[in-house]
Amino acid sequence: MVVVILVEKTIKPDPDEKYCSECGAIIKKAAEICPKCGTRVIGLSKTHIQTVQLKNPGLAALASFLWCGAGQVYNGQILKGIILLIAYVISIVLIIIGIGLITTPLLWIYGIYDAYKTAEKINAGDIVIG
Ligand SMILES: [Zn+2]
Repeated sequence: MVVVILVEKTIKPDPDEKYCSECGAIIKKAAEICPKCGTRVIGLSKTHIQTVQLKNPGLAALASFLWCGAGQVYNGQILKGIILLIAYVISIVLIIIGIGLITTPLLWIYGIYDAYKTAEKINAGDIVIG
């Protein structure tokens, strides 16, 4: 029984422990350097943290409100913003034959909605742009 407990103890790290990314030894979570192999553990784990540049969803929506596609450009989706703007301009031209009366407000609303949602997703780390 004692042996089983000991084996489990060496396999599963406690909540305040972690595996060394270099040699796999179980070490204290607070440890900066692995006592077994001497690797800097803190420095290694930091490279896995993504730096997210926070976006303001309200500002993104406002930008698209004023200029279709501008919110997408603000979010870093430059190509998407340009495509939206071109589609918007074509849509305005299509007002002459009636279709534009439907597509223009749809594109405009989509641009605002998408800019807002995308900014939120960027902030949450769901989307990585750049
Ligand atoms: Zn190690």
